[in-house]
Amino acid sequence: MGDGAMGTMLQTAGLEPGDAPERLNAENPEAVRSVHEAYLQAGSDVITTNTFGGNRRRLALHHAGDRVFEWNKAGAAVARRAAGAQDREVIIAGSVGPTGSLLQPVGDLHFDEAKNDFAEQCAALAEGGVDVILIETMSDLEEVRAAIEGARAVGDLPVFCTMTFDTHGRTMMGTSPEEAVQATVDFGVQAFGSNCGNGPGEMEEIAEKMIRACRGVPLIIQANAGVPRIEGDQVVYEAGPERMAEHARRCCDLGIRYIGGCCGTTPAHIRAMIEATKGSDGKGAEEG
Ligand SMILES: [Zn+2]
Repeated sequence: MGDGAMGTMLQTAGLEPGDAPERLNAENPEAVRSVHEAYLQAGSDVITTNTFGGNRRRLALHHAGDRVFEWNKAGAAVARRAAGAQDREVIIAGSVGPTGSLLQPVGDLHFDEAKNDFAEQCAALAEGGVDVILIETMSDLEEVRAAIEGARAVGDLPVFCTMTFDTHGRTMMGTSPEEAVQATVDFGVQAFGSNCGNGPGEMEEIAEKMIRACRGVPLIIQANAGVPRIEGDQVVYEAGPERMAEHARRCCDLGIRYIGGCCGTTPAHIRAMIEATKGSDGKGAEEG
C-alpha cells in the first residue's frame, strides 16, 4: 500500500498557493515530515517524496531552477528520516512528475534536454536516499522514455512509472492503457500503472485493461478520490474512505500489486484501503 496526496495536505500545513511545494523540503522539512508520518501511521508501506514538480523546468517557473539538487535531496532525506523512525520496512519512492512542457515535434522541448533535467532530479533523489524512482502523472510516452533514460543515466535504482488516463480512458496525448503498458515494459520499467485521473470507477476499467496487457510486470494504481467540486471556498472530493476501500479491494482482486491514492486522498482513505485489503496476497482473486 502506497500513500495518498501530498500537495493538498501541505496546503493545510501553510504552503502558499502558487508556491513550489518542494521549497518546504529545505525551508520547513517538519511540515513535510508530518505528512509522511501521518501516512506511516495509517500503515503505508511506500511513501512518496514531496518532489513531484522538482525538475529544473518546473522550478524555474518559481525562479528556483538552481535549487533542483538541494530541494530533491532534502525531500528524499526527510522521507528517509520519517521512515527510519518506524520499526518496519518502508520503501521511499522518489516522485518525478512531468516537465510541464511538450516535447518536440508537438512542443519545443528537445528529448535530450528533458532527459538531462530528469537525470539531474533523479541523481539528487538517489543522493537523498530513495529506494525507487517513481515517474508519475505522465501523458506522453516520449517524455516517459526521457524520464526513464534520465533515471538510468545516473544510477541503477528500480524505476516505476504511472501515466494518467483522463480523456475518455486515454492520456491527453491519446495513448490507451494497453499501448502505454506495452511501450513502457519495452523501455524496461520494473513496475507500471496509472495515477491521478477521474476517480476510482474509471481507474478500475484502466486496471482491467492493463492487467491483460502487462506481460507479468507488477502494476500500480493510485486513483484520485473522484472528481473535485467547489463547495463554498472548499475543494471537496466525491470519494470518501469507504469508496476508496471498495476500490482497493477490487484492485487487489484484479491482481494490482501496489495500490495507493492521488489527489484528494488522505491518511483516512489509506487506512480504510489497508483495512479492506488485509490478508490479500495481491495476486488476484483466482489464485486466492
Ligand atoms: Zn492526482
